[in-house]
Amino acid sequence: MYAIKVELKLNNREKTLMNKHLGFSRFCYNYALSIYNQLNHKEYPGGSSKKIDLIRKIFNNLTKKNPDFDWANQMSSRVYQNAFRNLKTAFTKFWKGEAKRPIYKKKKHPGSFTVDSSNGVILQLNRKQVKLPTLGTFRTFEAIPKCVAQTYTVSKKANRYYVAFHLNAELVPPIQHEVLEPVGLDINLTLGKYCVLSDGTQITYPKPLKTAITKLRKFQYHNRNKQFGNRKKGIKTSANALRYFQKLARMHQQVAARRLDFLQKLTTDLACKYKHIKLETLNIKGMLANHKLAFHIADASFYKFKTLLEHKAKTHGGIVESVDMWYPSSKLCSKCLNKKDKLGLTERTYDCNACSLSICRDLNSAINLAQAPLEQTKTRVGSIRRNACGQVVADNLGLKQEVNTKVNTKMINFG
Ligand SMILES: [Zn+2]
Repeated sequence: MYAIKVELKLNNREKTLMNKHLGFSRFCYNYALSIYNQLNHKEYPGGSSKKIDLIRKIFNNLTKKNPDFDWANQMSSRVYQNAFRNLKTAFTKFWKGEAKRPIYKKKKHPGSFTVDSSNGVILQLNRKQVKLPTLGTFRTFEAIPKCVAQTYTVSKKANRYYVAFHLNAELVPPIQHEVLEPVGLDINLTLGKYCVLSDGTQITYPKPLKTAITKLRKFQYHNRNKQFGNRKKGIKTSANALRYFQKLARMHQQVAARRLDFLQKLTTDLACKYKHIKLETLNIKGMLANHKLAFHIADASFYKFKTLLEHKAKTHGGIVESVDMWYPSSKLCSKCLNKKDKLGLTERTYDCNACSLSICRDLNSAINLAQAPLEQTKTRVGSIRRNACGQVVADNLGLKQEVNTKVNTKMINFG
């Protein structure tokens, strides 16, 4: 299963149509939530799902027939059905303890709406076009591969419109990896690097992303006193402030897009080249508490990197292992396994007292991760063949997989 998300190329009339439906979706969600919150739950016991179904009936049979709500009849009926469904999911998650209690959607955040086809899947031809059920055909910036899908979600972010849907594609068959031995990967953002691999490869942080971040920070600092209105104090948003916040949203989006692009390309390359990757488990919550480290950790989007890498390793027939949080990867000497008691954050080279090894600190810890014993492994994604002694048996990736390699490169592009 893959998800595709592409930007829509809309004219003004189409933008208005999308905005109307975004508003309609928000209205229905808030409508149902408002009635639900006003219900006397002692008088009417029962699950939230049943109650929301009832609210939907009230909306359908009473509110929509009210002349004041004539506009609702001009909208796609699939939108409100899905809005009610989303609220149901939100409550289910809340009762399970996975999320907070649903709150009202705000106009400030345009969010998304979902349309689905009531009579089967919709065929997308291999064109720069997307057919949305009950709404029509719209242009896209990128071509959508020939596929079928039933449910489409349109979202708006920083004045741009996107459509996302699932695509039933077969998993990429395992490919022949260039490197079969385990490699360690140490993430470190200092000195413009992103991560270091135990075979000596250094991956640098892309410059366009860095410049975008610097630009954004400066822009925010220069406009630090602007307010987006304040209803309690009776301050209205000025035209200048509105322009500023619109530009700010665009800049934030650019940074996010550049970062995601970098992570996607990096993880695809890593998953294709290396069969067995070992990462360290970072105590991210603990590190975010340290204000000096927080920016760098959040900036590295380590969690996103890990999720992407694990997902891609799985589809490419590789393995990703996380080494225990307390494994002293940076304090050990990668040559003689002598452990140092103290290693400051500023010490960039590792000088061993026992065997006089002098090595880059990050490379040392990457090699240690690669050499980490099996019992230090916390989680593993993907499968590996092992014999009874726990040694890795060479995978017999036969001719079959080699033949398939050509297919892969095409499929990976969606990842
Ligand atoms: Zn040593």
